[in-house]
Order: sequence, then C-alpha cells, then structure tokens
Amino acid sequence: MNFELLKSQQTEFIKSGKLLSIDYRIELLNQLKSNIKSLESEILKALHDDFGKSEFEAYSSEIGFIYQDINETIKHIGKWSKPVRMGTALSLFPSSAKIYSQPYGRVFIIAPWNYPFQLLIAPLIAAISGGNTALLKPSELTPKVSAILNKLISQTFPNEIVALVEGDGIEIVPRAINDYRPNLIFFTGSTAVGRSIAKQAAEHLIPCILELGGKSPCIIDQSADLKVAVKRIAFGKCINADQTCVAPDYFIVHESIKEAFIKEYKETVDGFYSGNAIESSDFTQIVNDRHFERVEKLFNQTKVLMGGRTDKDKRKIEPTLVEGKLDHPIMQEEIFGPVSPVFTFKNEAEIFDLIEKNNNPLSLYLFTQNSVLEKNIVDRISFGGGCINNTLMHLVDPKLPFGGIGNSGQGAYHGKAGFDAFTHKKSVVKTATWFDLKQKYPPYNIKSMKIIKWFLS
Ligand code: NAD
Repeated sequence: MNFELLKSQQTEFIKSGKLLSIDYRIELLNQLKSNIKSLESEILKALHDDFGKSEFEAYSSEIGFIYQDINETIKHIGKWSKPVRMGTALSLFPSSAKIYSQPYGRVFIIAPWNYPFQLLIAPLIAAISGGNTALLKPSELTPKVSAILNKLISQTFPNEIVALVEGDGIEIVPRAINDYRPNLIFFTGSTAVGRSIAKQAAEHLIPCILELGGKSPCIIDQSADLKVAVKRIAFGKCINADQTCVAPDYFIVHESIKEAFIKEYKETVDGFYSGNAIESSDFTQIVNDRHFERVEKLFNQTKVLMGGRTDKDKRKIEPTLVEGKLDHPIMQEEIFGPVSPVFTFKNEAEIFDLIEKNNNPLSLYLFTQNSVLEKNIVDRISFGGGCINNTLMHLVDPKLPFGGIGNSGQGAYHGKAGFDAFTHKKSVVKTATWFDLKQKYPPYNIKSMKIIKWFLS
C-alpha cells in the first residue's frame, strides 16, 4: 500500500468537513453494521478456520459485542459530541467557555490475533464516532479473519475514509508510522511491541493509546462461595482457551481451601467439556504451533495438580492447574493458554507481595465475602480494571471504560470512553467586548495589583 497517497487522500477528505456531521458518522456506523450482518456467516467461519472458535464464543465475544457497541454509540453520539458549556472563573468576566470534541484526524489502529475481529472493529467504531479517518492493520496470525476484514472494510468504506492493510507488523507498522503519519495510534497487543511502537511514535510526537497484556491475578479468599466462584473463574480462564488479555492468569487461593478449589475446578471443567476438553468443539485451539509449543514448554518442570494433557495435532491443551513457583518461567510471562499456577496465602500481605512481582496487571479478580479485604485490594493495588466475585465482565458493559495502567497500557475505550479517546478536548473561551478592564494591561500600578489580588485570591 502507498501510505503517502493514503495520507493525502484521507487528509483531503477530512478537509471536506463531511466527517464533522454527526448524521454522517451515524450513516457510516449503520453501513458498517449492515455489512457485518451480511458477512456474519463468513466471519464465523473464518474464526473457526483460524483457530477453531466455537460459534457461540465467536458470536458473543466478537460479532454480538460489536453490534452492541455500534448500537450504544449511535444512541449516544449526539450527546457525547455536543460541546460542553462550562462556567468560567470570575477573573475571565465577561466570558463563557465550551469544551469541543475535535477529531484527531487520521488514526492508525493495530490489532492482535486473539479476538481478531472485535479488537479491530471496536476501536474503529470509536474512531468513526469521533469523526476520524482510519488505517487498520489486523494480525497476520489469523489470516482468514484478516482476509474477511479486508473484504468487509473495502465493501463498506472508500480508502479516503477507512483503509486496511494486511501483512507482517514488523514490516508494515514502521512504514505506516513514517509515511501515513497518523495523528493518533491505537495499539492492542503485547507489552514489548507496544513499547517499540510508542518509541517510534514519540519520534514524531504521535500520541498512543496502548491496550497491552500482562499477568492478571485471581484471588480466592476462604469466605468465597466456592461453587459459584470456580464456575466463573473456569469460564474466564477457558473461553478462547485462555487466549484472552483479561483472563485470570494465576490463582492465589487461601491455603485452607486449596484442595477443595482444585477438586471443584476439575469437576467444573469436566462439566463444561464432558470430561474431554481436547475433543470438545466448544474448546478453542491454540492459535498456531509456535504458541502451542510455548505454552506446553511453560508448564514443563512444574507439578501438575490437575489436567496436563495436550494434543499437538489438534493444537489443544486441556484446562490445567500447576503448583505455583515464583521463580519458574510460567511467572515471568503472560501464559495465554489454559494453564494456571496455584499459589496459596495465609494473610493479606502475601497477596500484595505476589502481585507486586508482576505489577499493574490489566485485570484483577477477587472472590470474597469479606468487605475489608475487598476494600484493601481495590484501594491499594494498581490494576486496569476487574471484578469482585466474577471474571471478564468489566469489559462487557460499554458504559465502563476499559484499559490498562503502566505495564498493561495507557488510555481506555468502549462507549463514551472510546469517543473521548478518539477526540481531543479543545477548550475555547469566548469573551464579550462590552467590558474590558483597563487595569489588566500595562502600565501596571497599585490599583491594578489590588484588583488582580482580589480576583485571584
Ligand atoms: P503482538 O504484540 O505480537 O501483535 C499485535 C499487532 O502488532 C499485530 O497486528 C502485529 O502484526 C503487530 N506487530 C507484531 N510485531 C510487531 C513489531 N515488531 N512492530 C510493529 N508491529 C508489530 O500481540 P499478539 O500476539 O497479536 O496478541 C497477544 C497480546 O495482546 C497479549 O499480550 C495480550 O494480552 C494482548 N492483548 C491485549 C488486549 C487489551 O485489550 N489490553 C486485548 C487483546 C490482546
């Protein structure tokens, strides 16, 4: 793709002012929704072909999620985009002020492979709602989904509004940053690649929103309702075979309930997948051989507490629990596979110490009925977002901003937060001319000093 040409086409389109119209943005979003609907079965098939996603998981977490996001955006965009009238300080009299939501212009959206449809289209919805043009770069690791995304985007938008480029990130992204020169980059992916892209962007002062990964802890206190807790934890861990950025990565279980937790976890996953996750069509494959081998190697030399079977041909690893070991490689990187180390704790301080080793997790989950523990964890640990007595649900509701902090990212989106992420907040003060205090201007004297002190004290 000729990124310089794309830059000039999109810049010309922005200048036309069409995207300043909220009705036009709504028209684009409606067109996007209707084209997704007509390609729905092809999208589901691509998600299955790339990594065996079941229709239920593919529909709910990729396509249905997007319909909900478009509906929510169309419903509220009028309100979100209205300039916000602000009261002004007395020292500005006689003035009024408004905050305008100004589109950034050209935005570059880079997506990972694990929810390859949703994680490209959800930021696009926010970008359009904010009145931007976009360049999209899906992951090369899910080529069938990448191809169908290409078809969807070229059917829905001319290049001057939204274009898509397929291929290897390491080759395409630096070229696009240099030649397309986006006004904003929205990146979802690993912390290492996010850091490298942010460095390249800094060279041109391009702001970045980074949606990264990390190791999300899941704490199970002895007061938790174990049956409900394990069902919700196993669901969060097993959906998409744990290839989910917000999946519970490792478990911190009160020592008094460790055995009961393992037994309940086994019964629960056996119930989910009829005792054989490897053969179950409801259980997703690992995306490719490299990741299969990486996850398999990660739980080498650990003590398996439950599960542990793998099938290389099917690229499946059954839900597995292993003994937690802090200095083992499994605690040095995000697991991204259905294996979890189990640590135990006796007191609150041990929970804090463990989480500190992988700080700023993207998500944190706590299962407890103890409100003091809940308050301490929520108040004192820095994490992107999370749930009490549930998993994953904080990212489902478009009313809740979703994003990381520190190692797990910067900036947030979904619903109004998405609109805000893709617009610059431009404050404008308007001052009437019928009154203009002369003491504001030089030459200054004692009277001007008195007046300024009165206004500003
Ligand atoms: P990745 O960082 O390898 O790739 C993400 C994107 O960056 C892809 O489009 C890829 O082509 C591109 N890319 C890869 N290497 C690049 C390079 N050197 N220079 C420029 N671009 C490059 O991530 P992934 O393996 O596709 O996805 C998994 C990661 O994404 C996990 O860490 C996961 O936690 C994270 N993730 C985060 C969220 C979130 O919302 N916070 C959501 C999903 C996934």
